[in-house]
Amino acid sequence: MQLIEEESSEIASSNRGPGRYAVFGQPIAHSLSPRIHAAFARQLSIAHDYRAIEASTEEFVGALAAFAESGGVGANVTLPLKQHAARLCLSISETARRADSVNTLVRRGEGWHGESTDGAGLIRDITGRQRLYVRGRRTLLLGAGGAARAVAFALLDAGIGELTIANRTAERADALADAIGQPERVHTRYWTDLGQWGGFDLVVNATSAGHANMSLALPTSLLASRAICYDLSYGKASFGFLAWARSAGAGHALDGLGMLVEQAAEAFEMWHGKRPETDAIYAELRAYLPGDAED
Ligand code: NAP
Repeated sequence: MQLIEEESSEIASSNRGPGRYAVFGQPIAHSLSPRIHAAFARQLSIAHDYRAIEASTEEFVGALAAFAESGGVGANVTLPLKQHAARLCLSISETARRADSVNTLVRRGEGWHGESTDGAGLIRDITGRQRLYVRGRRTLLLGAGGAARAVAFALLDAGIGELTIANRTAERADALADAIGQPERVHTRYWTDLGQWGGFDLVVNATSAGHANMSLALPTSLLASRAICYDLSYGKASFGFLAWARSAGAGHALDGLGMLVEQAAEAFEMWHGKRPETDAIYAELRAYLPGDAED
């Protein structure tokens, strides 16, 4: 376990709280979460000591226990620990249970309560910040990992039309469709057959292929006119998918930076009972991640 981020948003004032907060993951050095949470804390004048802690799957149980011992009362969890976090919680929300993924931990008594704010973050970004409608949209979800699970349920709850799921490993797409349990509305397709399908109004890339600089080799026939294409990743990892979306005629090609900020705001509100305004830090990070900047 390694403490990466020394920057914290401690505010030496009378409202200084006793709790510590952190984001766990591996790798974690480039996480934007400490910067986002520091901005929220400054904005609301809330004491919020938030650091990045690198932990592998093997180290996570011990790292989380040590964090709680040292006054840790809230944490975010990112790759590759979200499913592990779900197993460690004494209680988890219905949203996290359905997604089988926890990205936010809240200390309750002697244990952790788990929540998943990824799906809410995506919907807030698309419908709130971007002011786009998802209702009734024929949707293609690429991927079936932890983030895909979280956003699948959130998209369905938000009222999309049919949902088609395609994943490199077809069995995981089938497992997600089975978990959703709406066979009239949710279908799976083999990735290799995607060329036969088209007319999607919303395509969400929830794969991590961009992080490995790997092309998804998607056919341009997938999109309906003025479709929304959304990549959950941001920075360089999103460039390939967004370039494909533009070349395929998408009406909107969006990355996951807004989702990142919104899921963080959800977590902050869970911990402090106050919802931060997100536009300022979104604009700051957008300026920080221009063109081909690293994420
Ligand atoms: P994950 O659980 O590891 O799942 C990775 C997914 O990507 C799997 O479906 C995997 O398919 C697929 N994949 C990987 N390489 C591929 C390739 N070369 N071609 C096709 N599919 C490939 O990861 P995750 O937690 O779901 O995260 C997925 C993405 O969402 C990441 O880019 C992550 O950064 C992003 N994310 C963003 C936010 C945000 O706030 N913006 C929040 C959460 C996640 P297999 O099943 O076949 O391995």
